[in-house]
Amino acid sequence: MIKYIAYCRKSTDEKDKQVLSIESQIEELKEFAQRENLQIVKFITESKTAKIPGRVEFNQLIQLIEAGEIQGILAWHPDRLARNSIDGGQIIYLLDTGKLLDLKFPTFWFDNTPQGKFMISMAFSEAKYYVDNLSENVKRGNRQKLRRGDWPNKAPLGYLNNKADKTIVVDPNRAKFIAKAFRLFATGRYTYVDMRRFLSQNKVFSRAGKPIHLDSISRRILSNPFYYGLMNFGGELFAGNHLPLISKKLFDRCQKIVKQHSRQENSIKSGFDFLGLIKCRECGSSITAETHTKFYPRTNNTVTYTYYRCSKKKGKCNQRYTPKKELETQMRQIIQKVSLAPTAYKKFLAWLEKDRQTAKLKSVAEINGLNNELKTIETKLDRLLNAYLDQLIDPQSYQDKKNELIQAKAGLQEKLKEINITGNSWLEPFSNWTDQALHAWKTMRAKNNGPELAFMAKTVSSNLFLDNQKLLVNYVSPGWNVFASRPTDAKNSEKNSNLLPDQDSNLE
Ligand SMILES: [Zn+2]
Repeated sequence: MIKYIAYCRKSTDEKDKQVLSIESQIEELKEFAQRENLQIVKFITESKTAKIPGRVEFNQLIQLIEAGEIQGILAWHPDRLARNSIDGGQIIYLLDTGKLLDLKFPTFWFDNTPQGKFMISMAFSEAKYYVDNLSENVKRGNRQKLRRGDWPNKAPLGYLNNKADKTIVVDPNRAKFIAKAFRLFATGRYTYVDMRRFLSQNKVFSRAGKPIHLDSISRRILSNPFYYGLMNFGGELFAGNHLPLISKKLFDRCQKIVKQHSRQENSIKSGFDFLGLIKCRECGSSITAETHTKFYPRTNNTVTYTYYRCSKKKGKCNQRYTPKKELETQMRQIIQKVSLAPTAYKKFLAWLEKDRQTAKLKSVAEINGLNNELKTIETKLDRLLNAYLDQLIDPQSYQDKKNELIQAKAGLQEKLKEINITGNSWLEPFSNWTDQALHAWKTMRAKNNGPELAFMAKTVSSNLFLDNQKLLVNYVSPGWNVFASRPTDAKNSEKNSNLLPDQDSNLE
């Protein structure tokens, strides 16, 4: 009867979860030997890597075979035995010379025939190929990582580096604002200064904790394909494993505007906050601005006035100049209509929180159901394995049934993941909107904040027209319209703002 030596190895550098621990390998081999009626005379375990020859325990194994004390080796898989060309060659040579009579693996079928030896040498080469590939990967460093879809550098704003598994994950605090910045910018109505204001308002700062540089906004954020799933490394694009924050379509739209802006931005005159925001109702030309100085002899004082007027680029137009002050007042009224005073804001939040709780309870019930189903599958898998080990079912049926269960398990896990992601995502835009309404209230009440007024006006309106010194507004989303149609007067906003908009209205 052939005497077998059981050889188990798992090295510390093997991160592969597919490889069983040494304890499990021993268990599996014991069971296997019992089933196959094999006589094991010795167990050898090794925690060295098989990449280089010269493993102590492995050499002992070879010596035992050469001394004729054992004639067979039992291991979990050929790759446990040899991962370098010398070890593999040694084992095949021992088979050739008849000193080694048999190899047994629970996961690999071997027969001591020319075909069998050919197959085992293939399995050894495959193991070697795997090792070679690994070291090649290290050499190639970044490029290899990139090809696999992993980003080798610091995560762009809106993402974080997960130090544990070296992946890039979505930044739960900043990602939504980066995505929103793309959506705002895509409308073509915002400048880089606006974008910086928006990001700062939402506490998205540079790594140094400062407002993001305008150049970074255009180049590192709005022109970075990372946000829709590609990675630009030295001008070369790679597909990334990270979750995209935006669609390619949205990115492309922003690119067009980035190109226009690089020309425009230089020509925008500073100090004119409402430029690029309003069109003339009469002729459709854009509204431009200019200053006039007036000298008052009595006080010996020169005062500068800013006026907005139709640029008359589209031909004849009869519109008069509008003083900046007048425009600003009207701008505040527009914003005031869609603002929420702090007291009303609190009511909104409470209502929202109640809904969030209801939604949460619902998803908890769903999650529990799925978890129970998962447990059932685990139990079935256990029973199946026992049935297989007790030889109640044949390997083929075992594998078929197992695959079926594993697929069902993956399906359930997928569902669980979805619930966790989308959970009560519909509440999110609404709470953003509420925050914005409160912000509108603050903006409307602050003084000397022209740029902020302009930014807010762009946020709440899709088009602003000037007609006989009167600003006409189209609120950008149905939500704002519902809100703006409240009976209200500018002085008494606090009293009126307890009117809640329709819950079903399509906000944003
Ligand atoms: Zn005009």
